[in-house]
Amino acid sequence: MEQGYRHTKIIFTIGPASSDEAVLERLIRAGADTCRLNMAHATHEWTREIIRRVRRVSERVGKPVAIMMDVKGPEIRTGVLEAPIALSFGDRIDFVLDGAPAVDGVPAVSVNYPGILEDVAEGAIVLVDNGLMRFRIIEIQEDRLKCEVVIGGMLTSRRHVNLPGTTVNLPPLTEKDKEDIAVATEEEVDFIALSFVREARDVELLRDHLREIDSPARIISKIEDQTAIANMDAIIEASDAIMVARGDLGIECPYQTLPVIQRKIIQTCIRRGKAVIVATHMLESMIDSPIPTRAEVSDVANAVFEKADCIMLSGETTVGKYPVECIEVMSKIALEIENTTEHNGVAGGPEVMLHRPKDKMLRSAVSLARDLRKSGIIVFTRSGYLAQMLASMRPMGCPISAFTDDPVLYRQMKILWGIEPFLLKFSKDAEVTIREAFERLKEKDWVQEGDWQVIIINVLAGEQVIDSIQMRRVE
Ligand code: PEP
Repeated sequence: MEQGYRHTKIIFTIGPASSDEAVLERLIRAGADTCRLNMAHATHEWTREIIRRVRRVSERVGKPVAIMMDVKGPEIRTGVLEAPIALSFGDRIDFVLDGAPAVDGVPAVSVNYPGILEDVAEGAIVLVDNGLMRFRIIEIQEDRLKCEVVIGGMLTSRRHVNLPGTTVNLPPLTEKDKEDIAVATEEEVDFIALSFVREARDVELLRDHLREIDSPARIISKIEDQTAIANMDAIIEASDAIMVARGDLGIECPYQTLPVIQRKIIQTCIRRGKAVIVATHMLESMIDSPIPTRAEVSDVANAVFEKADCIMLSGETTVGKYPVECIEVMSKIALEIENTTEHNGVAGGPEVMLHRPKDKMLRSAVSLARDLRKSGIIVFTRSGYLAQMLASMRPMGCPISAFTDDPVLYRQMKILWGIEPFLLKFSKDAEVTIREAFERLKEKDWVQEGDWQVIIINVLAGEQVIDSIQMRRVE
């Protein structure tokens, strides 16, 4: 059961361990905010069935759950082998374009990306099987990369290939991604996460594609290699949210640089008013164990201290033995850290907040809510801008209830730090809307009569629409 108001949101990846209706219900009740579908492992039939199931259970439980489709993006893989190849330090191996034969007794392993020969340089490193095996390119020929083994292992079929430090010229959106996104659009998925984003143009391309097919989905860019880090500011600018995809980042970059990269991405996202997700290996040991390691507790706590919007589970909830416990553990850690952190939101708000009257109003609302002890903020929003900016101010200890009349935005706000979304039909009369909001909050036991709330709402004065802040006691 969920333990209280939590600012940091939790994303879980759905898989065989979590797709059963009863388990899903327990996950949602325990506090899961967003469900991620990893399209590297999904058929369209399964995808449709799962999305409908998540919606059904979320409706039954009475808690919104956003759905994120994580598309595979450009990916390089080795080909099918007749038998595994055992490789040791100093051995030779050729990575070849399809069909090229083995020569001089050196094993030939195909790769699915012909452009690899142009993209890499002699001396560059090729990593295979999620970084487990390491090769150095000693010569580039017209149909193969001649390599020597730096770290060996048992090479099996269809292994993931990383080229750290190499800018890969694969198209950002594959045909498979487009087919997956068509299903996402039909099933009204809330977010598309794009893998291996390298530059802002990749995001713009997806944005154009979503516009063409009339999808309101928002874009989460996964930062997972050195090219993305070099172009980080522009990628953040072009995206709706960012994922620190530490799995691939830890292969593409020296692992000791990860904590600094994570912190820099989170800080930049907060400054630019964009949501940010910390992903991968947060509770990895809980795939097999009912309790986390002490180091994992500290890792989750660190992301909460850094004020990431979301923390994410992958293998822990797709194939792990303890998916519900993982959500409970994350929730407990987040609550503990939040409740013992000083209430010191970003004083002036993110730098994207200009000096427009609306922005001044948001700053005043946060400051007012802080002055009134135990007060929350109620905001009414149609585009989501007000909620997103309030979230980016990170007002620790101040619950923000965001009411919208748009069912898509209602779910999309589930990734924003500190925002509790509510779906409500707005009345022309602001007073009616406010009273309905009070009722909804009372029904959920979020507020009691007499509690202070700071309200941000448009009111009609004759023909004129006026932005207003109200200090109200709940009636
Ligand atoms: C990652 O690499 O951390 C990640 C989230 O991406 P994927 O699970 O698609 O490898």
